[in-house]
Amino acid sequence: NNNFFIGGHVKPDGDCVSAQLALALFLKRIGKKVFVANRDPVPPLYNFLPGIKNIKKIKDLRRRFDVGFFLDTSNIERTGNIIDLRQIGVVINIDHHVDSIRFADYNLIDPQASSTSELIYLLIKNSKYPIGQNEALCLYTGIVMDTGGFQQLNTTCMTHEVVADLLEEGVKPYYVSQKLYKNKTASELKLMGLSLSTLELDSSGQIVFLKLTNKMYKKAKSSQEETEGLIDYVNLISGVEIIILFKETEKRNVIKVSLRSRDKIDVNNIAKIFGGGGHRKAAGCMIKGTILEVQEKVLKHTRKVLRNYGRSS
Ligand code: 5GP
Ligand code: MN
Repeated sequence: NNNFFIGGHVKPDGDCVSAQLALALFLKRIGKKVFVANRDPVPPLYNFLPGIKNIKKIKDLRRRFDVGFFLDTSNIERTGNIIDLRQIGVVINIDHHVDSIRFADYNLIDPQASSTSELIYLLIKNSKYPIGQNEALCLYTGIVMDTGGFQQLNTTCMTHEVVADLLEEGVKPYYVSQKLYKNKTASELKLMGLSLSTLELDSSGQIVFLKLTNKMYKKAKSSQEETEGLIDYVNLISGVEIIILFKETEKRNVIKVSLRSRDKIDVNNIAKIFGGGGHRKAAGCMIKGTILEVQEKVLKHTRKVLRNYGRSS
C-alpha cells in the first residue's frame, strides 16, 4: 500500500505522539505517503521531537487512505472519531491497554508491553529495515513517558532491552531528560502550586484528591496542555491508596478525571464505571457535571470500592 493514515487518541500523551511520529518517520523513510492527525493538540512538551509539526489537529477528515493505524487507543471513541473507518481500506490498531476491544481489521494488542512505542519498536525491528536515529529518539521518549521514567510496574526486562538498543542507535538520555523534566515554565510551576493547594485527604485517609480549574489556568497564565505529569507528582504520599485529579476542560461541565493507584486497587475498574478506561494503576475518564458534582460522584464510588476491598481481603 502507499497511502497511510496514523491516528492516536484524544488528549494525546507522550506515548501516543511518540509512537505516531516513529511510525510515520519509518513509513516515510521507506517511501510511503503518510498523514498523521489527532483531534486534540500535541502538548508543547513534545516540541523537541523530530517531525512533531507534521501532526495535524483535525476534527473531521474527509480523505481516503489505503491503510489507517490507530495507536494507543483501546476503542474507537478514544480516537476522537476524526475519520470514518469506511474511508480506510485496512484498519490496524496497535495498543497495550488491557481494555482494548479489538475494533480494527488487525489488532496488535499486548498488555505486557510498557507502551505503544515499545510495540512500534518491535514492528520496525522485525521489518527488513534498520531503525533510524529520529525514530529511536521518539520511541525512547514514548517509553520514558509511559513508564514514568522506568519507575512504573510496566517496566520490564524487555523494556530495558529495547531501550538499550535505542541508546545504541544514538539516543542521549541526558538530552531527553532535560527536555522532558527540566523545562518547566514559571507558569507551569505556578499552576502546580495552585492545584497542590487544593489537595485534600479523604476522611478514609486512603484517597488524596486535587483540582485544576479554568480559573487556575488564567491566574497562572498557563494552559491545559501543560498539566501532564501533575498527578504523578502527587503520587508520592506514603500510606495513600488512590490519587484523583479533577480537571476542568475547555468544554463547560465536562470534567477530566485522572486516577492513580499506589498498590492494591484496580483504578481501571473505577474509570470504567464512568465510561473511561486505562490500566490497573493509571486510568481516566470524562464525566459531565460541575467539578464538585463529579468529585462527589467519583469519591463516593471510590470509597465503596475501598470498603469492599477491605471486606474481601
Ligand atoms: P491520564 O490520567 O494520564 O490522562 O491517563 C491515564 C491512563 O488512562 C492512560 O493510559 C489513558 O490512556 C487512560 N485514559 C485516560 N482518560 C481516559 C478516557 O477518558 N477513556 C479511556 N478509555 N481511557 C482513558
Ligand atoms: Mn500508552
